[in-house]
Amino acid sequence: MKEDCIFCKIISGDIPSYKIYENDDVLVILDRFPTNQGECLVLTKEHYDTLFDLSPSAVAKAFAAASGVAAKIKQTLPIDGLNILQNNGEPAGQQIPHFHIHVIPRYDSDNLVIHGKGTDPAPEEFEAMVEKLKI
Ligand SMILES: [Zn+2]
Repeated sequence: MKEDCIFCKIISGDIPSYKIYENDDVLVILDRFPTNQGECLVLTKEHYDTLFDLSPSAVAKAFAAASGVAAKIKQTLPIDGLNILQNNGEPAGQQIPHFHIHVIPRYDSDNLVIHGKGTDPAPEEFEAMVEKLKI
């Protein structure tokens, strides 16, 4: 638990939330300010600032929970699509520095823009990026 972290306070119960699911590793709640009704947040119970602080196992557990919530949303809401969004750092849109995954119900008519217009790199730029990023 980190002092002054709103998600740590939700996990400890100091701040109330609308709980959807809980296990030893994660808590899933309704987003207090949903982009669409039913948007859920998967919070790791342990405080990590960003994805880069989690072990591969902790990442797998968090995304498994997100997948389970997505399935439940698909079963119960009349959605046309769904986004799983995980932001790291302010330029990426992370507003609360405690690792979390957004599960966002989508509708044909919702007009949300989550991903902007794509760029069009040259082939040599792709090749240079492959050299940098390949694992
Ligand atoms: Zn926290």
